[in-house]
Amino acid sequence: MINYYTCIPGYSCNNACIFCTRPNDPNIPNVWGFIPDKTTEQLFKELTKARKSFNGVILTGGEPAIRKDFFEILQKCVDLGFEKISIQTNAKRFADKNFAERTVSILGDRADFFVSFHSHRRELFNKLSGTKAYDEALTGLKNLLSLSKQVRTNTVVMKPNYRELPEIASFLCGLGVKALEFMSVHPNGMAWVNNMQIVPKIEDTVPFVRKAVDVAESDGAKATITCFPLCALGDYRNRAPELFLPEFMIVKNPKARTKGKECEKCKYYRNCWGLWTNYLKIFDFKFTPFL
Ligand code: SF4
Repeated sequence: MINYYTCIPGYSCNNACIFCTRPNDPNIPNVWGFIPDKTTEQLFKELTKARKSFNGVILTGGEPAIRKDFFEILQKCVDLGFEKISIQTNAKRFADKNFAERTVSILGDRADFFVSFHSHRRELFNKLSGTKAYDEALTGLKNLLSLSKQVRTNTVVMKPNYRELPEIASFLCGLGVKALEFMSVHPNGMAWVNNMQIVPKIEDTVPFVRKAVDVAESDGAKATITCFPLCALGDYRNRAPELFLPEFMIVKNPKARTKGKECEKCKYYRNCWGLWTNYLKIFDFKFTPFL
């Protein structure tokens, strides 16, 4: 089993997403706390220490692939013996085929790419990413799909895109994506600043999330749903990876996740992440325990 360490080299990014949950600005409210970009030495030290307890690493951000020392970091992860090296990326840097090939050649079959992709429509994609990101991101995703078998996508479920989730799923499957994740938006950072525009009522989104899962699965892909309260998902709760995670991986930071009093009698209390805490500052939610 792969036991992942999450490494954040920093929050610098080549997008400016209007729903970014980890903004590169200490003045924007952020329950995770601001992380300035780390030096190569700091990262090497952190990764060396992490390897003593973990056999997998997730490089996230920000956008890890824009770092000048990106390939050095990958090589360090390989040299340390991490068995899986997961890169969470907006895929823009991978529009450069040479860059994508070099990445895959360093990582080999340890590579796991987790690509953010939030709309199949250029106009909405660019609006959400705050840059003209669509063409580069799409080319990057296609390059990774052509070079690696381990490419998953992450689609954040938001007010502007939730009604289109089934079409997004169909589009991604059409490109050859075999594993799709749909994640409830965290009202934090820019998604908190723009919450009126970004954060939907969970109950409104669930029928579209379920339909998107159906579309993906009918295409032979694996679909997961994450960061939703399990009771909102009904019988689709078995698509939530939280259900199968070891307890130490469940986010318990009360600034980030909250459960209700009712949850205490729920049979999923241990594994369910409940709600994003900030969500309850915007909407009510009826916790419905499974007894
Ligand atoms: S009642 Fe609480 S613990 Fe149970 S599924 Fe709902 S949010 Fe999760």
